[in-house]
Amino acid sequence: MMDAVGQLGYLVASALFIFALHWMNTPATARKGVFAGVAATALAIVVTWAEPSVIHHIWIIVAIAAGFVVGVPLSRVPLTAVPQRTALSHAFGGVAAGLVGTAEYYLRVAENPEYLTPFRMVALIAEIILGYLTFTGSLMAAGKLQEVRWVPQRPVTYPLQNVTNILLLGMAVALGAALTLHPTASWAPALFPVVIVLALLFGVLLIIPIGGADMPTVIAILNAYAGLSAVAMGFVLDNKLLITAGALDGSSGLILAIIMCKAMNRSFTNVLFGAFGQVQPKKTTGEEKVYKSETPEGAAQILEQSSFVVIIPGYGMAVAQAQHKVRELYDQLRKRGTTVKFAIHPVAGRMPGHMNVLLAEADIPYTDLVEMDDINHDMPQADVALVVGANDVVNPAARSDKTSPIYGMPIIDADKARTVFAIKRSKNPGFAGIDNELYFSDTTWMLFGDAKNVIGELVKHLATESESHGAAPVKAAATVA
Ligand code: NAP
Repeated sequence: MMDAVGQLGYLVASALFIFALHWMNTPATARKGVFAGVAATALAIVVTWAEPSVIHHIWIIVAIAAGFVVGVPLSRVPLTAVPQRTALSHAFGGVAAGLVGTAEYYLRVAENPEYLTPFRMVALIAEIILGYLTFTGSLMAAGKLQEVRWVPQRPVTYPLQNVTNILLLGMAVALGAALTLHPTASWAPALFPVVIVLALLFGVLLIIPIGGADMPTVIAILNAYAGLSAVAMGFVLDNKLLITAGALDGSSGLILAIIMCKAMNRSFTNVLFGAFGQVQPKKTTGEEKVYKSETPEGAAQILEQSSFVVIIPGYGMAVAQAQHKVRELYDQLRKRGTTVKFAIHPVAGRMPGHMNVLLAEADIPYTDLVEMDDINHDMPQADVALVVGANDVVNPAARSDKTSPIYGMPIIDADKARTVFAIKRSKNPGFAGIDNELYFSDTTWMLFGDAKNVIGELVKHLATESESHGAAPVKAAATVA
């Protein structure tokens, strides 16, 4: 009877995990998706705990308490730290799978070695290799994103690096194969930790040649590894829910990594082995390119006369935390009857959905957030494209310069707008480390400064203009409507 209830509980939890992923597809249902995921996890824990074979209840309570102690502060990190927080979650998932596999092996060897069939041993070896490499790999990824002092941000490369890494992984797999064939041999329990150490080392070496800014893609790949190790753990423990949840986790991580690679026009191998992010030598053409700059006051005057403005946010908006000022600008423009849309590039910022989350935080209606392919049709009609701390995602070199590292990456066609205002602090390049022709174009004016300050200035000038023309404040207008 208990078993039937338990299986039903697992079935409901599996369905909730699937719905959770489905609901995450759009901002309108994303919150429901989060609740469904939490409910599924809670149900899975309760059902497993209720199994008659579970006798050490105190340890489960200690584990849940430890989860809260770590999880609650992690849930409070600022939005800009979410990529490294996600990496830490994968590290915990990886080490949990690795530890369960290790405990399972030593318990079974001592108590019922016949349980360690070749099939279970293959799954167990996969579980510990993937689990432990995900652990150290994710810790390194989190360290790079958090800019921890002793973790180098730039790619660290050395001769024969890929060969060394593949040999190391090959060694772990070969020793794992020996353990699979002879799990109860007298030398096997002593060999097991060697496989663990090799997997831990491989996790570190896999990540060091990858630049800090490529970490979000790598985290999605590590997510897939953590999911696969949970699938393997499900086979070892004969737990169907772990197999389903791990497969969902693994495949969604892989799909996300593929989407990100496509949006950057990069291959998996280029992300993992391309050492992207090393300083690019500057191209010297002999002639010094000239930026035209504009004052916020002058830009506000143009914005005031525009009927269609496209705001293109990028990583700089996140750094400056300018989203609330952007909201004020949006309100000022809308008050004048200007149509304002936000152009969302799939890899703007440093994590998938980065811009959507920031703009949602500032309560900008998601109906005004337009995906790249859709907004590009409208760019020639835009009176102003206002680039807020974006660089690579509006760089026309991606369309025309075959030698550019971002050639082929789809971009937002800011250059097709009648006028472009670009906000950034300096003449420094963005993530890809290359100059942006857009900033030298005839129709572009630079608004140099921190995004929050510059947008704040624009809002101030627009508000002053509107007061001098006697326009009603937004809130009053909204109330009347
Ligand atoms: P970007 O190319 O990195 O450019 C950001 C720009 O923001 C910089 O040029 C910087 O110029 C400016 N900036 C920084 N702080 C600022 C501040 N406080 N105020 C104003 N401007 C500021 O960013 P992007 O256009 O969003 O492109 C994203 C890049 O990240 C792409 O190359 C993408 O492939 C890569 N990437 C994204 C993801 C993802 O999931 N989203 C994952 C991996 C890689 P200054 O220093 O002069 O201010």
